[in-house]
Amino acid sequence: MSHLVTLIPGDGVGPEITAATRRVIEATGVSIEWEEAIAGEAVFRAGNSSGVPQETADSIARTGVALKGPLGTPIGFGEKSANVTLRKLFETYANLRPARQIPGVPTRYDGEGIDFFVVRENIEDLYAGVEYMDSRDVAVALKIITRRGSEKIIRYAFELARREGRQKVTCATKSNILKLSEGLFQRVFEEMAPEYPDIEPQHLIIDNVAHQMVKDPAQFDIIVTTNLAGDIISDLASGLVGGLGFAASGNFGDEVAIFEAVHGSAPKYAGKDVINPAALILSSVLMLKHLGEAEAAQQIEDAVYVTLEEGQAVTLDVARQAGDVERATSTSGFTDAIIENLGRAPATRYPTKARPPASVPAPQARWELRPVIPTDTRLIGVDIYTEMDGDPQPVGRALDEAAGPEFKLLLMSARGTVVYPQGSSYTDTVGWWRCRFVAAEEGGLVDDAAILRLLARVGERMTWAHVQKLRIMDGDPGFTKAQGQ
Ligand code: NAP
Repeated sequence: MSHLVTLIPGDGVGPEITAATRRVIEATGVSIEWEEAIAGEAVFRAGNSSGVPQETADSIARTGVALKGPLGTPIGFGEKSANVTLRKLFETYANLRPARQIPGVPTRYDGEGIDFFVVRENIEDLYAGVEYMDSRDVAVALKIITRRGSEKIIRYAFELARREGRQKVTCATKSNILKLSEGLFQRVFEEMAPEYPDIEPQHLIIDNVAHQMVKDPAQFDIIVTTNLAGDIISDLASGLVGGLGFAASGNFGDEVAIFEAVHGSAPKYAGKDVINPAALILSSVLMLKHLGEAEAAQQIEDAVYVTLEEGQAVTLDVARQAGDVERATSTSGFTDAIIENLGRAPATRYPTKARPPASVPAPQARWELRPVIPTDTRLIGVDIYTEMDGDPQPVGRALDEAAGPEFKLLLMSARGTVVYPQGSSYTDTVGWWRCRFVAAEEGGLVDDAAILRLLARVGERMTWAHVQKLRIMDGDPGFTKAQGQ
């Protein structure tokens, strides 16, 4: 059976590593019909500010699978990365990064049995890229975590655990500080875990995960986490097993999967035939598994491992690490060696955490997502963010006046710390205030019309930047308290 796959050579070293990967795949005998497509720098320069032409998007929609080289974002052309655009365009919400010790690649953790996956949410969080200058000196970014997005990625992690015969899923969050956003991710994890009685659920705070990962990385099996945290700890995980030259990844959605190396376009090495293609070749192992070509996938992984283990050919990055640059082979020479080694098995088989999959229900292609609309919402006030230089006291008095008969100013905070009516004299205010108004009547409700009248009164006294409603949802506050409140 022939598979249809979109191939995006990409920028910098991209054409070299995609050509190498294609050669290795073709040498296994797997039949792939490649649809070549472009994205990245040339597309930005031609005036398309997304970096992804419609024909490329159409090709991926048709094939459902893409293998891509790294894409650069040239300075001065477009502000969004074409990589992120592709991930969002096809809702590839799960970023999968294996971290497994590779024979012949020396690390500080040799023999410790590192073999885990980082499953990173790929669409939401700070990577939604929703940012504002809220005043001339204050930048804010929205950290967006949704129940739906969390359910999808956490479901993916548990299903992956079953598919790969893994025993434990660790949910890594910062829910101790970000109680609503990261807390929602943790709550969804805890709600979903009982559906997988065969898998041990664990929750750890993300900073502890970083610490544990360096101290005892073999304890992890599958780590599921939010986007920014996942970005950071997956690079940390790559560092444990040999660095970016070996870091493979897959981006999975319900309909589309995109496979790529973790590293970028390394422009200084473009066209020099020196770059290490292993990361993309190992990403193609994930792709072949996804296409149901498990045997060819295993063949390629083994051949890469044999080549590295026997040290017949090493690229510049590895030779440099070994302090012997003279030994370096070209990208194409290294690729030839991998092809020669197809069909051989490495002498070193590091123990894997994978066990034969238990007898469990087949994964669902689509699962039912729970409704996200709260049933009972009560509007009790509003936070108005204002911009005004000066001490909190005069600003607060002006806002007390603006509150009028319908509201009272409960507090003002600067960068999350209460500064009015009382506060710490140590707090460095920055001329940007969160002004929390609640109904004048104790425990009363407000409405949109009252908020608009309040905004007009505040606007007469100072500049306001944005507004956030304070709502009680199903009995729980939909907002956090200020520090010191
Ligand atoms: P980079 O391209 O990953 O390269 C940084 C350094 O990492 C290289 O100079 C090299 O280190 C090493 N390196 C990367 N890939 C390697 C490989 N295959 N073999 C050996 N060494 C490798 O990061 P960057 O310079 O920050 O980014 C360059 C461009 O790529 C930017 O436009 C960025 O936006 C884009 N980018 C794209 C993706 C993607 O497509 N997913 C990801 C990241 C960045 P030495 O200099 O020490 O040899």
